[in-house]
Amino acid sequence: MTVDNSKIDSLVKILAQERRSGFGDSAVIGGLDLFLQRWAGELAPALGGVKPYSVLTPSERESWSEAVLERVRASAGPKPQDAPDRPAPRRRRSSKAGSRPREPVRLDSEVTLLKGVSKRNSTKLKRIGVRTIEDLINLFPHRHNDYSSIRTVSELEAGREQTVVASVWEAVLGGPGPKRRSTQAIIGDETGNVRCIWFNNPHMARTLRPGMQVAVSGRVNVFRGSFVFESPDYEILRGQDSLVHTARLVPVYPSTEGLPQRTLRRLVDQALSLGLASIDEFLPDDIRHRTGLVGLRTAISQAHYPDSDRDWKAARRRLAFDELFLMQVAVLSRKRAWQDERQAVRLGEEPGVLDAFVESLPFALTAAQERVLREVVGDVATDKPMSRLLQGDVGSGKTVVAAAALLIAAANGYQAALMAPTEILAEQHFMTLSKLLSAAAEEDVEYLASARAGPSGMVVDVALILGSLPTQLKRDLTERVRSGSVGIVIGTHTLIQSSLEIPELALVVVDEQHRFGVMQRASLLEKGLRPHLLAMSATPIPRSLALTMYGDLDMSVIDELPPGRRKIRTRWVDQSNREAAYRFVAKEVSRGRQAFIVCPLVEESEAVQARAATEEYERLSAEVFQDLRLGLLHGRMAMREKERVMGRFRRGELDILVSTPVIEVGIDVPNASTMLVDGADRFGLAQLHQFRGRVGRGSHESYCMLLADSPGEDARERLKIVERVDDGYELAEEDLRIRGPGDYMGTRQSGLPDLRVARISDQDILSLARREAVRLLDTDPEMSREPNAALRDRFQRYTSALASEMS
Ligand code: ADP
Ligand code: MG
Repeated sequence: MTVDNSKIDSLVKILAQERRSGFGDSAVIGGLDLFLQRWAGELAPALGGVKPYSVLTPSERESWSEAVLERVRASAGPKPQDAPDRPAPRRRRSSKAGSRPREPVRLDSEVTLLKGVSKRNSTKLKRIGVRTIEDLINLFPHRHNDYSSIRTVSELEAGREQTVVASVWEAVLGGPGPKRRSTQAIIGDETGNVRCIWFNNPHMARTLRPGMQVAVSGRVNVFRGSFVFESPDYEILRGQDSLVHTARLVPVYPSTEGLPQRTLRRLVDQALSLGLASIDEFLPDDIRHRTGLVGLRTAISQAHYPDSDRDWKAARRRLAFDELFLMQVAVLSRKRAWQDERQAVRLGEEPGVLDAFVESLPFALTAAQERVLREVVGDVATDKPMSRLLQGDVGSGKTVVAAAALLIAAANGYQAALMAPTEILAEQHFMTLSKLLSAAAEEDVEYLASARAGPSGMVVDVALILGSLPTQLKRDLTERVRSGSVGIVIGTHTLIQSSLEIPELALVVVDEQHRFGVMQRASLLEKGLRPHLLAMSATPIPRSLALTMYGDLDMSVIDELPPGRRKIRTRWVDQSNREAAYRFVAKEVSRGRQAFIVCPLVEESEAVQARAATEEYERLSAEVFQDLRLGLLHGRMAMREKERVMGRFRRGELDILVSTPVIEVGIDVPNASTMLVDGADRFGLAQLHQFRGRVGRGSHESYCMLLADSPGEDARERLKIVERVDDGYELAEEDLRIRGPGDYMGTRQSGLPDLRVARISDQDILSLARREAVRLLDTDPEMSREPNAALRDRFQRYTSALASEMS
């Protein structure tokens, strides 16, 4: 390399200055082009062909500048320690040689290498998922305190967040309370003095010494006519030290497990100094150009310590894009892999079968049901395996649609499977289906586990296969499924994971399964099967979230309830009104209605849960509802026993069904009008909505009472929301707001990572990410082209992290 190193140095400095000023072409008087012209010859190898800098957009300038720096670095051998594309925020130190641990630091080095990581801290850090330097770098703040407004003491204004740089006059213990554990300090600059108080923090009195220079940031209040900073953030200024706690936009990190913000800031700052330069851009240039996103290092450093609000937004945008983009690439390539093979069975519409079925129903389908049914019928008629998510609020009538699909498969001479999350629900489906499919439904379905049904002469064998069936019966049914004579198999979610052979399987319906997808498909593929898949969920997923997480599924929505349904009156009842709630239940029963009582959630085990429910059942029978007919339902009961109880309740032979929370999903008894949830504060919004959905399924006025014993603040908020909101989608949005996307759906269990930066409201970033993911998969699905090499590496890391999280 013959280039004068000082020229390169100047260029690097100029570009760093450009970055700081937002690529406004202001670093060189007369413009960067002038500088380049002068040194063009010498610098040419580093520059590459380029349009004049002055005509580029700021984001093009940024990409260009990063590319140039990359080349310069490559030709200059080892990377400079302080990578020049790293913004150098005001008064931020470059990492000092003295503070470097001796071992070479890598991104995957343990955080214990950093200064000031005690054993206790490292345990706490593990709890928030931070083990390595890289984890720390990726621990993004959820907001910032704006301490960037630096004032003299005389300029301070009450009520605003400000920073002063001043000397300590005195710092003493004092303040309110007999123990005087607070620290009071007087600090001042040449314009005046101001008081600071750190409540319940005697430590500060020892930390601050007269004469020290400090920066103090926070809100300034007025107390007895003079200004005071109350428990402000502070920083002791020593020479060239960086400012990480004050005088700028200061990061506030989420979920700290008791780690002080100061500690986190210090550690993140160290991690950035040591590790940022090793983080490489992985988005190819074309994506960077089209999206106008900032570079990765810039984004990371600005996400922690932004120079301005605009920089913070740009950083967040980039990081959110990365999350959503990788997720979309994963999800969409999965869909392609699933559909590309085109080896599903075409299930044509056998003439008359569907019509006869719809005709035979005791009700007319709603418009939404018809629409969704047509979508499903259209899907299964092709050899591309369907992967469809059918959403509909509780009680919207998803089962009929499933029944129709199952019937079509059977009518084509193939087999179809329906899977439910619990045995009780599987069994209910078995009965409902036998009934729906057959005009002669009133026949005795008690404990049959196998039925012959079918509209207008067509006969379908339906089998219910459960783990708890008597061995002989199960063996018999399994054999009939294996021989292909059973057309519709019903069971729990384990059906396709078990060793059961369903040789002619052409369609799988999964009920109440919003986490459907990855796992089921994986186990189907293992069996060498590629049936059509229909997943049904009553947990309404906001469309944006569904796109994010289920981008590999097509969506159908039943957005209409069958006619005649009424709003379910929902009340939060406190303990003191327990008796009144019971009286209400008794009154409804006296009107010919039935009721559910859900027992409080017991965390321990199913056995403990069952015992608690049994005790409650006995108490209610003996002390509260002596004259009524009560039944008990819990997960530890034998299948036969459960079935007997559900059967009696369904036939109206029981007035009240006392149950563990197993009742949560699916149960359908239209005469039941009252749901009493005991210990309602222990349940989440979605669960409460599911419980409530057990009533109001007929034409009777229905009620849901939520009994809660001194609920905490979160629980109170949930209860109030359920009282107020009856629409499942609105509730889901509320849930999302309270819990955040990761927690809401348990994204981990869906086989996707939690989102750290992206939010569900990031619609525009999501569609951008989706567009780029589609484009990538269209043009270079294997990411084998050179410009996509770094992306391929990153994507592989992403998917292997996913795989290890799931195992
Ligand atoms: P979910 O969508 O919660 O699974 P179900 O399929 O269990 O709902 O249906 C709820 C109740 O509504 C059932 O009793 C079912 O028979 C009834 N139902 C379904 N569709 C209609 C309709 N179009 N008109 C009237 N009742 C219907
Ligand atoms: Mg259902």
